[in-house]
Amino acid sequence: MSLRDFHPRDSHDRYSMYTGTYVASAEDHISWSYEGPTGPKYWADLKLGGQNQCGLQKQSPIDIDVLKTRYDGSMSQLYFKSYDKATPNITIVNTGHSIQLNSPNWRQSVSGGPLPGSFNLLQMHFHWGKDSYRGAEHTVNGRRYPLELHMVHSQAAEPGHSASGRLAVIGIFFDLTEGESNAGLQKITQVIRDMRTHDSVDLRGALSPGELLPGTKHFFTYQGSLTTPPCSEVVTWLVLRDPLKINERELALFRTTLFENNRTMVDNFRPIQMLNNREVISSFVTASSSSLLASLPLMIISAILCSR
Ligand SMILES: [Zn+2]
Repeated sequence: MSLRDFHPRDSHDRYSMYTGTYVASAEDHISWSYEGPTGPKYWADLKLGGQNQCGLQKQSPIDIDVLKTRYDGSMSQLYFKSYDKATPNITIVNTGHSIQLNSPNWRQSVSGGPLPGSFNLLQMHFHWGKDSYRGAEHTVNGRRYPLELHMVHSQAAEPGHSASGRLAVIGIFFDLTEGESNAGLQKITQVIRDMRTHDSVDLRGALSPGELLPGTKHFFTYQGSLTTPPCSEVVTWLVLRDPLKINERELALFRTTLFENNRTMVDNFRPIQMLNNREVISSFVTASSSSLLASLPLMIISAILCSR
């Protein structure tokens, strides 16, 4: 997820998450990349007018060590409002760092789980790899999926208040299949082939964002950052457990697009960051929490027996 992703080529992209206003474009172009002297190792040194948080302690992405996550049974499920509504006028834009879906017609919002209120959908974009053994930003038990979709939402302003600047990003993994891929993704890959020669293409017909969500919406959540400069620590991450499907032919289409330096756009994912003083919460009972729950009656019995 990136600030540069709010790209001047489309006015919808120029929404500033900090001020809730539209920002001037050309001069705030930030030069960074995924390799070489402006690559992730050096992002913390980029001069970004005091905005750079890439060297701080609550960065994203992370590896999700499932056995170390904590199940929080008091947390509600996530509520996806209007995700089943078909959204017209979707444009797919090459931001120079990713492929992003924009629309002036997004009306979707997410709430529930750890979120304090409602967050409105702003844009969606992808991260992928040079080959199918890598590509996603988050890893689960060290495993990296070939593609990760980010649905970026900003906190809805309370009446009479300015926007908080907080974001909620839903991360959705795609796993390789030799069979049928996700139907929503097919609508996107259909037009990606035209992106090699165009900065933006229009999606044919409408898409419901819900078409890009798995049926079961169990998630991991933690407090983190944008995964691109300025790496602002304003993101509540909601990483869905269950992946959708993508095939090699579709991944190959993503790999035909070009970075802003005209090299093939691949491996546009940031390396794993330290968890530091953070906890990853799960919305479901994991193997670790279930084994603890299963052993609980035994522990109580033995405690009673021992106390006699
Ligand atoms: Zn992203």
